[in-house]
Amino acid sequence: MIQYKTPGICIFESALYRTTCTVIETPGLVLLVDPNWLPHEVARAREYVRVIRRGRPLWLLFTHSDFDHILGWKAFPDAKVIASRAFVHQVDQEQALEEIRKFDETHYLSRDYAVEYPEVDIEIHENGQALELEDMRLQFWPAPGHTACGLFTLVEHAGIWIAGDYLSNVEFPFITFSTMAYEQTLELARQLAGSHHPRLLIPGHGDATKNSREIQRRIDESAWYLHHLRKAVEDGVAFPEGELWRRYAYRRGLEGPHRENMAFLAKEIKG
Ligand SMILES: [Zn+2]
Repeated sequence: MIQYKTPGICIFESALYRTTCTVIETPGLVLLVDPNWLPHEVARAREYVRVIRRGRPLWLLFTHSDFDHILGWKAFPDAKVIASRAFVHQVDQEQALEEIRKFDETHYLSRDYAVEYPEVDIEIHENGQALELEDMRLQFWPAPGHTACGLFTLVEHAGIWIAGDYLSNVEFPFITFSTMAYEQTLELARQLAGSHHPRLLIPGHGDATKNSREIQRRIDESAWYLHHLRKAVEDGVAFPEGELWRRYAYRRGLEGPHRENMAFLAKEIKG
């Protein structure tokens, strides 16, 4: 379904995990972010891009390498690809592909395009790195924590902040790379919110928001989660789960990731 649409911006939302796929267009180009997830949803994004494109170059941005975010790559074979340097060099690409194959096989899904790991044309590795594409200026910040390869992107003309799997209103932080890196990325998020005043935040899952207080609230809630995760794992203080499940509605989907976060941090501390 379409979650959000204004002239120049369209955010699709998957039926699965409320995963977002964003299309941003300027007179000079079309930028597509994380085309996902079910075959008919990828086909819909492809058809949308085909109709609006009118000969413009197509750029594809991957916010990170989790399989749900990359599986649509080959449906857009002539797109140029942007992702972080870690996306290219720090990811077990075969494992990501295996997760896609397993998902498709488990759900009897077939796709009318090849499933392959994205080849990246422009690698981002520096804080504040900027890219001028036709009439669009993008600025990037590596954002590790959830994965090693996360990327924050600011689309300057429209003040859009593409956050990947951070700052969701439906998910607390999922940590699969580093808790400390996640904490630092939240600090970076605070700085960006304060210095760049984004006009639209688009998370990888859940609702986009134009509300700066809501953006602040999401940063605070993620920090709240990590704070209590540390207290629980490091000091043995019970995690305030009542509060957690009041904030995040999809409890039965999120109990597993919460336990995995606890186990992940415990393992980090043990070394
Ligand atoms: Zn995701």
